[in-house]
Amino acid sequence: MNSDISRILISNDLIKERIKQLAEQITKDFLGQELVIVCILKGAFIFAADLCREINLPVNLEFMSISSYGNATVSSGVVRIIKDLNESIEGKNVLIVEDIIDTGLTVSYLASLLSQRAPKSLKICSLCNKPQCHKTLVKIDYCGFELPSEFVVGYGLDFRDFYRNLPYIGVLKAEIYTRYLDSNG
Ligand code: 5GP
Repeated sequence: MNSDISRILISNDLIKERIKQLAEQITKDFLGQELVIVCILKGAFIFAADLCREINLPVNLEFMSISSYGNATVSSGVVRIIKDLNESIEGKNVLIVEDIIDTGLTVSYLASLLSQRAPKSLKICSLCNKPQCHKTLVKIDYCGFELPSEFVVGYGLDFRDFYRNLPYIGVLKAEIYTRYLDSNG
């Protein structure tokens, strides 16, 4: 285990198993149809890569990059599009793939933005969800894991852009934040 991690919440084996189940459900729900997966960068890149390989449908992959919290660990509620989709989604089945839903503000904003582009259907898939933190009503169609209201890293999720490459989802040691705050005022 990485020495900055205090405990692992979701092991890699558990993540893999859950992704297979989600992909099976998605394959069933869209049987005989095409699907556009919209991967929200950067956090969802590992999840989307693993998920799309388990989905047995004709899949198009699109990427959107949005602003996150910067270096903070709480939501500012501000969503800025850094990179938009390359292709039109009009008349298509669209699946937004997110890493984690905290306040729900980001995914709600994205869903309302994409629904204005007249997709045939629009669904949300998130690897993790923190239901106690929602500040808006969000309908998550496919959810991997429900988590307590704790800041987590790994499997695409970062702190200051580090730890995305950890194969599991875990909690950082408190001293990592203290050290960061001490050196940044
Ligand atoms: P929301 O708008 O739902 O509050 O925040 C969603 C985004 O905030 C996620 O896509 C993710 O980038 C970031 N985020 C929320 N909670 C966490 C967390 O526990 N760990 C990390 N690394 N990022 C988080």
